[in-house]
Amino acid sequence: MVFLNSNPILNHFKRGNAILCLGFLSALFVLPAGTPSPVRAGEPAEPWGYEGGTGPRHWGEMEQDHDKHIMCREGVHQSPVDIREVLGVEKLDLKSRYRETPVQIINNRHTILLRVEPGSYIQWDDERFELIQFHFHHPSEHLLKGNAYPMEIHFVHRAADHEYVVLAVFARVGREHPRIEKLWDKIPQEIDREKTYSDERLSAGDLIPDSRVYYHYTGSLTTPPCTENVTWLVLEEPIEISQEQLEHFQKHIRQNARPVQKLHHRIIIELK
Ligand SMILES: [Zn+2]
Repeated sequence: MVFLNSNPILNHFKRGNAILCLGFLSALFVLPAGTPSPVRAGEPAEPWGYEGGTGPRHWGEMEQDHDKHIMCREGVHQSPVDIREVLGVEKLDLKSRYRETPVQIINNRHTILLRVEPGSYIQWDDERFELIQFHFHHPSEHLLKGNAYPMEIHFVHRAADHEYVVLAVFARVGREHPRIEKLWDKIPQEIDREKTYSDERLSAGDLIPDSRVYYHYTGSLTTPPCTENVTWLVLEEPIEISQEQLEHFQKHIRQNARPVQKLHHRIIIELK
């Protein structure tokens, strides 16, 4: 796949190379990427949260025995970030193949998470990234010039080597979103109880706007263990959800946004 054009500087920012071109200093901070697994039904959710003593400021201090969350504390390529200065505009040929599948939906205390069956993926730079799950944040985690949207959806894709690409879609308040309405109806009342809906089929593509202008940078998972080397594609164009739909989500998850992290030596480029 064509990824970026022949601009020699921006080509350094091809996926996976972004960290390497930040200078030798950054090499000191590159730690091996972990392979975190999403919370499964039946497994107790981890004790971290979004408020008080278990909130984001304390994530790096928890699990001290194994320093499991050390990157939340010491990582310098963390997410989310405030998207303020964007360097360059480059062409991106990203192919997405999202198919309709039955969905599994769970409230794992941290978010409302949906798993889809295999077969939905994006193809980028000759590499295929399978969509493994998507989930919701309120308010948005990424900011645009200091401003948050009411919601952000993260579509988590993973390659065979466990490299992550997360596609982020903002939602603003406006018209009711018909697909979200169907999903919200199915959020289990019980925490950590996963429900499968075979009769209800959903394509992730239904929640992604047609216009494809992305802000791209290299960051991390926004939840513990805050693993780095995650490729972010943040869509500029938001979808719309109604105020009622936003409030429905808040009944289950009050707020679940990690504050923005410092950019340090990273840059953000625009891909379209
Ligand atoms: Zn997320």
